[in-house]
Amino acid sequence: MTQDSSMFRVEGTDVEGGKTLRLHGVVDEHADLSFFGQLKGRVQISLKSVRRINSYGVRAWIDAIRKVPSGVEFEFIECPPPVVDQMNMVTGFLGRGKVASFFAPLACGSCDIEQDHLFSVVDCRAKGNKLPSVKCPKCGGEMEVDDLEEQYLLFVRES
Ligand SMILES: [Zn+2]
Repeated sequence: MTQDSSMFRVEGTDVEGGKTLRLHGVVDEHADLSFFGQLKGRVQISLKSVRRINSYGVRAWIDAIRKVPSGVEFEFIECPPPVVDQMNMVTGFLGRGKVASFFAPLACGSCDIEQDHLFSVVDCRAKGNKLPSVKCPKCGGEMEVDDLEEQYLLFVRES
């Protein structure tokens, strides 16, 4: 059976001291987000493979995340740019959750190289809410955020 890669699905793996859930695909009106209401204990939620969230999906997401049982500690890891955009725009998107790590789109002006780089929020806080510098793999120059850095890191300052 082939699986449509845009189809929303949740994969869970038990890791020591908690659980990691990996969300995949597109969050839209077809996505089943009821897992939020069933979380237990400490949970990490990887959003790396979330490709897109549409406006129906955002509304469903906010409703679902409010149903996370109290006492559950959850954090988001590996948030890709389409998710970061939502976190920055939509109040309540994270619920009581924290962001631990996220991707930012970086580019080297000299070499035309673009790549998404993984950053931890703790590292950004230590740099005064800025991205730690990343060297271009080709020329060694400093890579820059493809977006406006200050806007992109809004969620770091506000969470
Ligand atoms: Zn370069």
